[in-house]
Amino acid sequence: MAERIPESLQKKIEARLRYHEDLGVRLFYRERGATRISYVSSAALATPASPIPVFEESSLPKSAPKPKLEPEKTSTPLRDVLPPPTGPSLFEVVDKVKDDTLLKIREDIGDCTRCKLHKGRHKIVFGDGNPKAELVFIGEGPGADEDMQGLPFVGRAGKLLTQMIEAMGLQRKDVYICNVVKCRPPENRAPEPDEVSTCSPYLLRQIDVIQPKVIVCLGAVAAKTLLETTRGISQFRGEWLQWRGRRLMATYHPAYLLRNPNAKGEVWKDLQKVMAELGLQVPKKNKS
Ligand code: URA
Repeated sequence: MAERIPESLQKKIEARLRYHEDLGVRLFYRERGATRISYVSSAALATPASPIPVFEESSLPKSAPKPKLEPEKTSTPLRDVLPPPTGPSLFEVVDKVKDDTLLKIREDIGDCTRCKLHKGRHKIVFGDGNPKAELVFIGEGPGADEDMQGLPFVGRAGKLLTQMIEAMGLQRKDVYICNVVKCRPPENRAPEPDEVSTCSPYLLRQIDVIQPKVIVCLGAVAAKTLLETTRGISQFRGEWLQWRGRRLMATYHPAYLLRNPNAKGEVWKDLQKVMAELGLQVPKKNKS
């Protein structure tokens, strides 16, 4: 007779599976590495460690002081971390739109029915924030709250993201926040490859218009989509990567942090690297 797995072990396995799910162990891209990906070692970026600020789910965002901008730093040497490209990129086929603007992109999306996600959506979640932001956060796709409000990251995970942004001394209006897909996948499932490839051109255009200095991919779906890799996010999380001439960092999705609060420290370390890159100082309230 088959033995029952003890409940404690079951819980551990469940947690492990959720962890893998968050790391995107749902391979949907062939291995490629379309873009030359490089990273700066963490040591090279040695930012003075700062304690983890409180990202409490319950505490609502408070306004933070305007961050001090420091002079441009010289680039840190980069080295390869993912294999070089082997075929055409998902993004190479996207035609550049002359004099593109976020408004044009939104108009082009229109009342989109290009993929099956339109069937269940209430609102298209285009993106929100500063159209000239130096920092862009990219999530996976809208959840229930975002779908109802038409705004990205406004639910539980969104509140946590807002707190993370404020811990960096920024406000949501200082950055730009968007997603890989603009319509809510049913039951919050991960977007499927056809949905990702249908929606990605608009994401690419958004990034090209905004021209951020730094892109932060929140979770495996965003990271794997942009980097066009099947590699697990754990292989490059927290490392500086180069993406179409911009600096990109992948970190854990705030929804993952809600389930795994112990990982907040890792994310804070990643965000501190982003702050160093942007010349932002840790706000006093988050120091020791
Ligand atoms: N999760 C995402 O990836 N994006 C949102 O907008 C909200 C939750």
